[in-house]
Amino acid sequence: MAENRIWEEVLKYAGKHLSDQIVETWLKPLSIKELRGDLVTIIAPNKFYKNWVEDKYLNVLKKIFTEELTIDADIAIEISDHKVENVEKNVPVYVNKDINIPKFTTNLNKQYNFENFVVGSSNQFAFSAASAVAEGYFHTYNPLFIYGGVGLGKTHIMHAIGNKLIKSFPKLKILYISSESFTNEMIYSLKSKSMDSFREKYRNIDVLLFDDVQFLAGKTRSTEEFFYTFNTLYDEQKQIVITSDKTPDEIPEMEERLTSRFAWGLIADIQPPNVEEKTAILLKRAEIMGINLSDEIALFLAENLKGDNVRELIGALIRLSAYASFNSEPLSIDFAKKCLDRFLIKKDKPVNPESVLDAVCSYFNVKISELKSKKRTKSISLPRQIAMYILRDKLNISLQEVGELLGGRDHSTVLHSISQIESKMKKDQELKTIITNINKLIYK
Ligand code: ADP
Ligand code: MG
Repeated sequence: MAENRIWEEVLKYAGKHLSDQIVETWLKPLSIKELRGDLVTIIAPNKFYKNWVEDKYLNVLKKIFTEELTIDADIAIEISDHKVENVEKNVPVYVNKDINIPKFTTNLNKQYNFENFVVGSSNQFAFSAASAVAEGYFHTYNPLFIYGGVGLGKTHIMHAIGNKLIKSFPKLKILYISSESFTNEMIYSLKSKSMDSFREKYRNIDVLLFDDVQFLAGKTRSTEEFFYTFNTLYDEQKQIVITSDKTPDEIPEMEERLTSRFAWGLIADIQPPNVEEKTAILLKRAEIMGINLSDEIALFLAENLKGDNVRELIGALIRLSAYASFNSEPLSIDFAKKCLDRFLIKKDKPVNPESVLDAVCSYFNVKISELKSKKRTKSISLPRQIAMYILRDKLNISLQEVGELLGGRDHSTVLHSISQIESKMKKDQELKTIITNINKLIYK
């Protein structure tokens, strides 16, 4: 991957945090000079850019490098060696047009579309429902409620719906908004006494794409506003799409009158991708980014990267190709092992009772002595039951041995705990995820 491709990736992510105008004006003229260790050197056309970006956007850049590209970067900005003939001419006139101008924007990000979304069994259902909405089949799935873990493509699918709809029906008023932005906007409107125009805006939309609804939990006032928005749009048969990291009834502190409405339409889940899907996502993403990634390396990454989350998967791919290109190394499995060491599962690490107990304790932030104690509060008994389940599952030791490791419990208690966990896991997605994550900690 050419170096500037990496900067293009950074610019795409920057679009999530900054307005297009800022990205275009301030970040686009920059480029990456080198990436060494965890120091990224960025080149700015002149001192003015350097100071401005350092002052205003360094934090965003840092966030993008660490969170999206998995590069724990320190960022240094240097000024280009090439003398710019007329510095003054190159300094953009900065007009802050973004603030307080009420105009209708969709907030859609064109980078996220159906063409670059890889479909597999883990997201097939959500994808099909989303495609139907995107074709204009409203009312059938209204609201469409998509839930799934972090980084599994919920936001991507939402933008894809909006982007496709707007192509076929340019007149539709489509709005993508995260619950956090909704809340901020409401607070601003309350303060500036402009709630009428806030309501007017939200109640005159044809398609509302409402992302991460779980963040409304506990925020009474914004939940209430959302409730009325929802009702108005729903009554007028406008399409609503909602995402969340949990099912409606699992969202804590969310009013029943709202969560019950979420179930009026269709609830679709997205599960973590399996190895084949991970491989396909990596290959597709590499193709889009112009990275020459062999099937063999894609499969190696899919099988060995710790995370199940697509964002981390893509982050690892960008990290790998960035280091390979800046160090002129070929993309090989050996190089991947070196470059991604801390992101890879250590399969050869021995598993023993201590490593299982350590992982459970560090996940739940409890002490081993507490697991072994007689305490029966839920915050201790659940970790204890999970520890029993994993000890048995991973080490295949007898119920008696499991009991001894946990403070001398008898085998019938152990048996009961393990079967409780097993039956809960069948219906409780969150518990399954917890256990998967603890299993990963064991190999860290
Ligand atoms: P979420 O909103 O569920 O936390 P995002 O939609 O932000 O996740 O996805 C995280 C990253 O992974 C994005 O860059 C997105 O484009 C990518 N991604 C997720 N799922 C897929 C997929 N099935 N195919 C291609 N890219 C995906
Ligand atoms: Mg999201």
